[in-house]
Amino acid sequence: MKNLINIKSLKNDEILEITELAEYYEKNVPQGLHKRKQTGSAALLFFENSTRTRFSFEMASKKLGFDIFNFDAQKSSILKGEGFFDTLNNLNAIGCDIAVIRHSREGFIEELVNKDYAYGLGIINAGEGKSAHPTQALLDFYTLKKHLGDVKGKKIVIVGDIIHSRVAKSNIELLSRFGAHVVCASPDYFEDWSQTNAKYEANINIALKDADAVMGLRIQKERLENQIPLANYIKDYQINETNMPENAILMHPGPVNRDVEISSTLLDSQKGRVIIEQARNGVFVRMAVLDLIYKGLRA
Ligand code: ASP
Repeated sequence: MKNLINIKSLKNDEILEITELAEYYEKNVPQGLHKRKQTGSAALLFFENSTRTRFSFEMASKKLGFDIFNFDAQKSSILKGEGFFDTLNNLNAIGCDIAVIRHSREGFIEELVNKDYAYGLGIINAGEGKSAHPTQALLDFYTLKKHLGDVKGKKIVIVGDIIHSRVAKSNIELLSRFGAHVVCASPDYFEDWSQTNAKYEANINIALKDADAVMGLRIQKERLENQIPLANYIKDYQINETNMPENAILMHPGPVNRDVEISSTLLDSQKGRVIIEQARNGVFVRMAVLDLIYKGLRA
């Protein structure tokens, strides 16, 4: 592995290798920063907002002993007109081994991966437009495996804004490949029929029946073309203490809009704990991804 473009670009073996290494890191890395054991360096280049992904990549890098550099687009030469490939090529020449990139344009990461960097550069997709968020799907898979053992034959219900969600798309790809039964519950204006590996069920109560895991999604306000009838959405699709199946785990990539996609009462109950655990698991999974890519670059 030299890059992480999306879930499609990973083989099932590589996905399992990532989750096994993440488990190793979870068991073996103390809560504090890991003693320096690697000499790599990573640059974080985020062109869209982020809290969890950015902090967990930074924490993961530090725990691995990497040097980490945060790129500030507003203070960079991009504002002087420098192209993004030239910026990356120069950061690589200066000594950055890996670039962790979040961007709003679909297909952008793959274009960057196909360029020829003078010193070799590993690129990780940290969220790309509406299309892909591979490390989120990997950490969700890791979390699901911890709670359900295996996802094969399990019913995973994804609720909400499927069409604008890169999290939904990466999860549908990954979970269906590992034999999960993925059901999407959403109003027609959020359906995405290109997601043929998932079934659709418009009625949330029918969708949630016998679910093993329920994954809420944030309404992607920044990507909506039209206003949505929010009060109706909340009435028909909010996950709450009434419709949440007793035996299912509740997940959400964050940030949660309280009382929109999930009720505060449910979020603040025991059921809300797994959502916080997802953020924690993100550190171990991102350690594994950084580690494998760094080793891949040096091989
Ligand atoms: N944090 C996730 C993402 O970057 C989910 C969201 O923003 O709603 O896609």
